[in-house]
Amino acid sequence: MMKIRFWGVRGGVPVPGPDTVRVGGNTPCVEVRTPDGDLIILDAGSGIRLLGLALQREFPERLICAILISHTHLDHIQGFPFFAPARQRHNRIAIFGEKRFDEHLEQILAGQMRAVYLPFALDDMDADILIKEMRDGETLVIGNNTLVDVRRLEHPGGVFGFRITHGSAVLTYATDVGHGPSGLDQRVVDLARSADLLIHDAQFSSEQKAKYWDWGHSSWEDAVHVALAAGVKRLALFHHDMLADDDQLEEVERQAQALFPGAFIAYEGLEIVLPVRE
Ligand SMILES: [Zn+2]
Ligand SMILES: [Zn+2]
Repeated sequence: MMKIRFWGVRGGVPVPGPDTVRVGGNTPCVEVRTPDGDLIILDAGSGIRLLGLALQREFPERLICAILISHTHLDHIQGFPFFAPARQRHNRIAIFGEKRFDEHLEQILAGQMRAVYLPFALDDMDADILIKEMRDGETLVIGNNTLVDVRRLEHPGGVFGFRITHGSAVLTYATDVGHGPSGLDQRVVDLARSADLLIHDAQFSSEQKAKYWDWGHSSWEDAVHVALAAGVKRLALFHHDMLADDDQLEEVERQAQALFPGAFIAYEGLEIVLPVRE
């Protein structure tokens, strides 16, 4: 069994405001829990701030968690400086990500906290923070029973997709992925094969994608096609466009469900338990 909760579902930059209250305006962050007590956080967008406050209330003495960073575009790391558990001495946080453009993950994370940007540095964070770089094709073991398959996918500068397995529950996380003009990227389909839940980039409509195809994002139609090709049970449309308001996203959901009934719009606060019972 795995429990998933969405804390940030938006791409680009946080977009709070009256038009985004139902879906939410925070950038990517997804909480994953297993019954063994493993806590895995997917991406450290602005959504991780509120998750951090909730975790502090739940684990005031000691928190152990892993943060998997799909890639270091700002919307996937910008919340980390405000992740309160990173400030507590007794917590242990393992951050997994990648070296990018020859810069080590640690330098990149410290880089967004240089004195020109923020009044505190990565070194000032008191938790035990372990920063580890992942490689394409690697399988991480988290706790005793949770496996994470890591695959490098198409996006400017690259991105990691994750397939997380615990017992019979399978979650695939594939945000910020593009499928080129020649069709679906088979690596994404393989990573999502028969998953209970696929969380997939759905930033664009197909008209937007035709215009901005080289930005490395998918249309919601691409996401639906991956879900169908991979035979997943449910599909979370994710990494919503900054300009999409609640009404537009609910319309996308209706259209997506007409093609694949298991599709839905990911929104902040949504919780899902895996495996999905049919
Ligand atoms: Zn992004
Ligand atoms: Zn990106």
